[in-house]
Amino acid sequence: MADWLADYQRNIEKYPVKPTVRPGDILSRLSEQPPFSGETMDKIFSDFEKLILPAMMHWSHPMFGGYFPASRSEVSLLAEMLIAGLGAQCMSWLTSPAATELEERMLNWLRDSLGLPAGWSGVIQDTASSSTLVSLLTAREVRSDYQIAQNGFTDKYRFRVYASEYAHSSVDKAVRLAGMGQNNLVKIPADTELAMIPEKLEEAIRADLNQGYTPLAIVTTLGTTATTAVDPLKPIGEIASRYGCWHHVDAAYAGTALLLPEFRWMSEGMDTADTFVFNPHKWMFVHFDCSAYFVRDSQALLRTMSIAPEYLRTPQDEQVNNYRDWGIPLGRRFRALKLWFVLQYYGISGLQNILRRQISLIRSLEQRMREDGRFDILAPVRFTLICFRYHPPGLNDEIQLNRINEQLLQQLNDSGRIFLSHTKINGKYTLRFVPGNLHLSEAHVRQAWEIIRTAAKTIEDFISCTASGQ
Ligand SMILES: *Cc1c(COP(=O)(O)O)cnc(C)c1O
Repeated sequence: MADWLADYQRNIEKYPVKPTVRPGDILSRLSEQPPFSGETMDKIFSDFEKLILPAMMHWSHPMFGGYFPASRSEVSLLAEMLIAGLGAQCMSWLTSPAATELEERMLNWLRDSLGLPAGWSGVIQDTASSSTLVSLLTAREVRSDYQIAQNGFTDKYRFRVYASEYAHSSVDKAVRLAGMGQNNLVKIPADTELAMIPEKLEEAIRADLNQGYTPLAIVTTLGTTATTAVDPLKPIGEIASRYGCWHHVDAAYAGTALLLPEFRWMSEGMDTADTFVFNPHKWMFVHFDCSAYFVRDSQALLRTMSIAPEYLRTPQDEQVNNYRDWGIPLGRRFRALKLWFVLQYYGISGLQNILRRQISLIRSLEQRMREDGRFDILAPVRFTLICFRYHPPGLNDEIQLNRINEQLLQQLNDSGRIFLSHTKINGKYTLRFVPGNLHLSEAHVRQAWEIIRTAAKTIEDFISCTASGQ
């Protein structure tokens, strides 16, 4: 199996990035009943190769550039093998002392390496979605003096939460699940660079105060999902302080860039925030799942999350972190090990070099697109995401541009040679390319450009062909 995995890594580029399957294809080939008697491992593995592998999206492929990357590295993979091998449950110190203490140390390493405030504490959550939910639950409890968890909501609480119109859908979900209700999430307009406008935020808060609402929390996004826009943390933080709002910072993808001093401008003002999340599983070469969640006040988190029934009490409770009390699930995987492996193997400077190289590779792709003249770059390229569309000269009908870009995306993805996803920016159909492979090279970027340019040319030929009535 180890050999097979090594070969897979080596030969990844021979696989189509996206499989050609239709919904139900795999289901129809899986037997409806489990076998009554066990099968041999040979049979199981050959089924894996025949049935499963050809129907997988290859997220590790260097030409995979959709959504945000599912980060990985060889050392993280080795750690995952050990984690599975040990099979530990890391809910409390007693159930896994090394896992608990390693987690504490790793989160402190990350906190300091990202330049987060020195007094903060961190914990690994499964996802940024969970972290944001935990943050809003904590906000709700602090603001109600821990009454809502005890007694439920009453008419007294008319909470509002604020986030950019480009905030991630996990904010909507958290607002629903924490009981505030979707209609009490106020979406604040963004500027031309697609970042939240602080003046609009303040206007919204004032209007809500006039209506008798309680402004509960603000979510700032560093690196929005659509375009990696960066909300201005400092002025937003000042507004949060002025109106007594909880302040959560969602840097799921772009938080990794804080390892680079040249990106520290975006975390200016963090010292007044309450919570911060970023995902090493998106761009720090640690396998999913690994979301690093940091809090200013761990006591508020613990008071919100901790429930200690008799069977979970241990003699060490006063001296140690029991991470079951720092999030929603009781059971926890040993995720700190893969962070430790990655941080030790690369060191901070090694990671910095990889990030800088990737950012400069994407800038070179941006440069090629700009020089070509037939592509629009639709958002500032800040990290490794490039938002673009194909724009043949002379064609200015937005509806038609949307149609041909949708067609371009489909053609690219169906080729199996590359995978991109899309978004809409101010009504414009936008292709998103954000490759995150650890070994991304100049040759890969050139290849991506060739594939994109050639596909666009095919569409252009088709358009001129139909325009001339042939
Ligand atoms: C990806 C993303 C999330 C969600 O991350 P999960 O860990 O998958 O829940 C949240 N916020 C932003 C800005 C993201 O890009």
